[in-house]
Amino acid sequence: MGQAAVSFSDYGLAYDLPAHAYRALDVLEQAGFEAWVVGGWVRDALRGAPSHDVDITTSARWQETKAAMESAGIPVHETGIAHGTVTAVVDGEPIEITTYRVEGDYSDHRHPDEVRFVGDVREDLARRDFTVNAIAYHPVRGLLDPFGGTQDLAAGVIRAVGDPRRRFAEDALRVLRAVRFAARMGFVVEEKTHAALVEAAPGLADIAQERIGQELDGIVRTGKAAWALLAETEVMCAAIPELAPMVGFDQRSPWHAYDVYEHTARVCRACEEFTGGCASAELRWAAMLHDVAKPPTFTVDASGRGHFFGHPKAGAKMAQAILQRLAFPKAYIARICTLIRFHDHVMHPTSRSIRRTLVKLEQACPGDARALVYQLIDLKRADAVSKVPRAALYVSELDVITAAVRQELLKRPPLRTTDLAVNGWDVIDTLCIAPGPAVKRVLDELLFSVVNGEVENDRNLLLAQLKGAGPVPQALR
Ligand code: ATP
Ligand code: MG
Repeated sequence: MGQAAVSFSDYGLAYDLPAHAYRALDVLEQAGFEAWVVGGWVRDALRGAPSHDVDITTSARWQETKAAMESAGIPVHETGIAHGTVTAVVDGEPIEITTYRVEGDYSDHRHPDEVRFVGDVREDLARRDFTVNAIAYHPVRGLLDPFGGTQDLAAGVIRAVGDPRRRFAEDALRVLRAVRFAARMGFVVEEKTHAALVEAAPGLADIAQERIGQELDGIVRTGKAAWALLAETEVMCAAIPELAPMVGFDQRSPWHAYDVYEHTARVCRACEEFTGGCASAELRWAAMLHDVAKPPTFTVDASGRGHFFGHPKAGAKMAQAILQRLAFPKAYIARICTLIRFHDHVMHPTSRSIRRTLVKLEQACPGDARALVYQLIDLKRADAVSKVPRAALYVSELDVITAAVRQELLKRPPLRTTDLAVNGWDVIDTLCIAPGPAVKRVLDELLFSVVNGEVENDRNLLLAQLKGAGPVPQALR
């Protein structure tokens, strides 16, 4: 391929193509095929954002790609040969190479009935979802942009390639992809594309939950869940049907100025404000789902006031079911659900209250209490400023609690029984009991004695407590 005729910046690309991508293009073209970089890398380089991977599209069939790469000493994995995709590992960097293709009918709204390989890159670009994703780039030939993707990038618009109704009917996952790209880049969805997307949202019911989960996680991780909830209500409620009853749900409470759904969106936004846009993914998910059990736990008292008794615990359970359905990892689910479970947990700026909270968090998510306690406080802050103005006064109390948490954590308080200055063998020897569940119970009780400030975490003092007073009263939990 030789020297690039013009520099990448002449095309408005913020980055030069990585060396391994140059090499992959070169190998394919030296073997007589045509090849382009396409999709996410081109889109991101044009808008000045780094991209995690480079995709190549080529006139070579996958077997031809494989042969050309291997004869250049580049290993190839057959990662998606049914769709014409192989992954070449060029100088240690994986790069996906796919044959120009078009897709047949989508009778099930999610899988093309057939994939047909074609000779013209323009046909390949036409099957891609959005104009900003349908731009090809070649270091010598420059940009190939048959659908006005660069214009849409400059204008900040997500627009379907071709007829939007048909494109969303083909594959309903594109509905969520549109929301994810708009959220990530702060773009608007073009009017006709948007109308088609709302119409197609119920089609998400046909899509595998795991794929919905990946797209939703992508949306939530942009930190723009508030925007997604408010601007794309139909889509979010189609993706997570448990959100739908929250829309317009009047809380009938003097503490709430907003319905459950709007309150939730405000909590999502406030989490970003309190964390400078760097909220953890767990906090973002917890904010979105923290009140999901409000509709099913709603009661009205004799004075006409609404209550949601037990909604944090019920919400954690509902969130667990939702996130399991979306195939999220177990530890991720546990952290999200723990934040939801404790979002109304009362904390005071005292050593005892903070230690008790930390132990509860540690029991729910071993190893995560220190990180979770700050996230929990951010969730509480965000919740407080999203009710009525006087509820926001709680934020200054939470600031005092945060300072106390910092102080307390400096003292490295014991958070689990293994942090105690005595162990199971000490309990067995001192109380002359057999190994078994009773030993764990005694250690748990000792931990709560230490946490409650009744005894120091000192070996001699703990042994004396074991010998003397016997088990600490149950009332401590
Ligand atoms: P990301 O940065 O999220 O990876 P991306 O644009 O690279 O963004 P991918 O999901 O990796 O997104 O897909 C690569 C390209 O394949 C897209 O840019 C788009 O051109 C095309 N594509 C992916 N999924 C679809 C789909 N469901 N329908 C149509 N085209 C798609
Ligand atoms: Mg990609």
